[in-house]
Amino acid sequence: MLDPLPSYLRPSNDAGPWGVYMQQIDRVTPYLGELTYWVDTLKRPKRVLIVDVPVKMDDGTVAHFEGYRVHHNTSRGPGKGGIRFHQDVTLSEVMALAGWMTVKNAAVGVPYGGAKGGIRVDPRTLSHGELERLTRRYTSELNVLIGPDKDIPAPDVNTNEQIMAWMMDTYSINQGRTATGVVTGKPLSLGGSLGRRDATGRGVFVVGAAAAKDAGIALDGARVAIQGFGNVGGTAARCFHEAGARVVAVQDVSGTLFHPGGLNVPALLAWVAAGRPLAEFRDGERIPDDSFWDVQSDFLVPSALEQQITLHNAPRIRTRIVLEGANGPTTPEADDILAARGIQVVPDVLANAGGVTVSYFEWVQDFSSFFWSEEEINARLDRIMEEAYVPIRDTARSRQVSLRTAAFILACERILKAREMRGLYP
Ligand code: GLU
Repeated sequence: MLDPLPSYLRPSNDAGPWGVYMQQIDRVTPYLGELTYWVDTLKRPKRVLIVDVPVKMDDGTVAHFEGYRVHHNTSRGPGKGGIRFHQDVTLSEVMALAGWMTVKNAAVGVPYGGAKGGIRVDPRTLSHGELERLTRRYTSELNVLIGPDKDIPAPDVNTNEQIMAWMMDTYSINQGRTATGVVTGKPLSLGGSLGRRDATGRGVFVVGAAAAKDAGIALDGARVAIQGFGNVGGTAARCFHEAGARVVAVQDVSGTLFHPGGLNVPALLAWVAAGRPLAEFRDGERIPDDSFWDVQSDFLVPSALEQQITLHNAPRIRTRIVLEGANGPTTPEADDILAARGIQVVPDVLANAGGVTVSYFEWVQDFSSFFWSEEEINARLDRIMEEAYVPIRDTARSRQVSLRTAAFILACERILKAREMRGLYP
C-alpha cells in the first residue's frame, strides 16, 4: 500500500521522521540571519521517486514491493545516501533520512547533496536469489536518477557490500560500461575502499572520544550502552572496547544483554558474525528490552532506527553522553529533556558521518583508479571527524545552543550559501 500524502503536506503535528526533521529545521531557522530567505528549500525534497518492484519468487509467484529514492537537495553536489531494506520503510522516513544526509554531508564538508532510498521489505524473508532479483530490479527502476555524477547510493540498514555489488553491476549493464563510482560501500574487489566497512562505527568512536575529552570523561573504564549491533553498533563497541571502555549493555532485535563488568566484545562480535542471536550469548545477563534505558552508562549509543529516545524514556536515561550512531534516534522533545538534565547529545549528522566520509574517499578513488592504504584512509577520516567536531562545539558554546542546533547552523549556512550563489533558475 502506498504511504499517504508526502508528509510535508500532512498536518505539522505528525511526529513521523519527516516531522522530526522539520522541527529540527524550524529550530535552526532563527540562527540563519539573511539566509533564512532560502530556508524553505530545506523543507521539501527536490524530487521523489516511488517505484513498483516486481520480483519473481522462488515458488513461481510474483510479489510486488514498494521502493523509494529521494533527492532532498543537490545544491552542494550530487545526491548521496544509503539504501535501506526494512519492512517499516515509509516515504516519510526516506524523506527525513535524505534531509539528514543533506545536513550531514554539509556538516563534515563532503561535496554532496543529500539523498536516500529504501524498499519496504523484510529481507530476512527472502532467499538469496529473491534478494538479488529485488535489488537488480529496484536498481533498474532507479536508472533515471542514479549515476556517479548524479546520485550515489550506499549501504544502510540491512544492505551490504553484496547488494552494492549487484547495484553496481546492474547499473553498469544498463549503461554498457563498468561504472564503479555509481555506488559506494562496494566489495574491495570491485572498487571498494579499505576502511569503509568500519568507517561509520569508527567515526562514532572518534567523535565520542572528542566529546568525552571536553566533558572530562576518561575512556578507560567508561561504561557504554549500545542499541543495535550491526555494522555501526558492532564496530563502535569494538572501538570502545579497544580503548579500555566497558560495554555494559547491548540490545538488538533478538533482545538485551547486560554485564556491569563489561561484555566480552570480541567474543560477542564473533558470535553474531556466525549468525547466532545476540541475546543468546552466554556472557552477561538477559534483561527485558525496556530495562535497557535504565542502564547506568557514560555513553549511550543508539545505533539502530529512528525515534528510539522519546518523551517517554528520556526522563529515565542515566548517561552522560548520547552518541547518535543511528539517524534520527532522538526526538526534539527528548532532546529538550536530555538537555535540561545535563546530558550531552552528539547528533547523528556529526556522530555517524564517518560512513559517508569514507564513501567520499571511495568515490574519489574510483574516479582516479588509484587506491589508498588503510592507514591513510583512517588518518584522513579521523582528521575530518575531529575537525568537524571543533567548530560545532565552539558554535554550541558561543551561541548557547545544543550540539545538534550548532551542527545544523553550520551545515545549513553552507547549503544555503551554495543555494544563494547558484541562484534561482529561471
Ligand atoms: N547510510 C549511511 C548514512 O546514513 C552512509 C551513506 C553513504 O555512505 O552514502 O550515513
